[in-house]
Amino acid sequence: MTLAYVALGANLGDREANLRAALAELKTVGEVRKVATIIATEPLGAPGQGRYLNTVCEIETNLSPEELLSACQRIEKKLGRERERETVRWGARLIDLDILLYGDEVTDTAGLTIPHPEMANRCFVLEPLAEIAPDARHPVLKKTAAEMLAEITPSTLARGEGRGEGLQV
Ligand code: ATP
Ligand code: CA
Ligand code: CA
Repeated sequence: MTLAYVALGANLGDREANLRAALAELKTVGEVRKVATIIATEPLGAPGQGRYLNTVCEIETNLSPEELLSACQRIEKKLGRERERETVRWGARLIDLDILLYGDEVTDTAGLTIPHPEMANRCFVLEPLAEIAPDARHPVLKKTAAEMLAEITPSTLARGEGRGEGLQV
């Protein structure tokens, strides 16, 4: 069994319902032990998209990292994400599931990078992660989620990866 952290984001359709449906699906591939407060955040990348709802969950699973990625992609597809239609990077999508951490595993292959390469730069990931797992440690940077969040710099924020606005749901 390994503790993994999965980031969820949605900015199309009924965003909250999409997050909840994805969480229900994740419960079939492991034990979802914690889910952070859902936050609303400004989109990164292509202009003209609506705001995201983001959260992070902690899942205890028997799946390997590759199997967990496949499960995430299967869930995205089941919830209606059509990658073929996604012509712009970071465009709008119904649901996006990213593996942030998988125990203290470090993997970098063509299809899978763990820890997620951008996690240390993204408030919309670090805020929910630090809420549920402030002591979760990045195995390469050797920093905890709380430390990474505290170190987000103004230049990072200027790139549009701003702090989420807490949304109680
Ligand atoms: P970003 O990764 O910057 O958040 P994105 O989520 O918009 O961008 P996608 O189009 O959803 O990117 O995914 C592109 C590819 O990223 C996927 O096909 C998948 O193989 C790969 N990938 C690599 N590492 C991970 C990871 N840790 N979690 C999820 N997908 C990953
Ligand atoms: Ca993503
Ligand atoms: Ca993704």
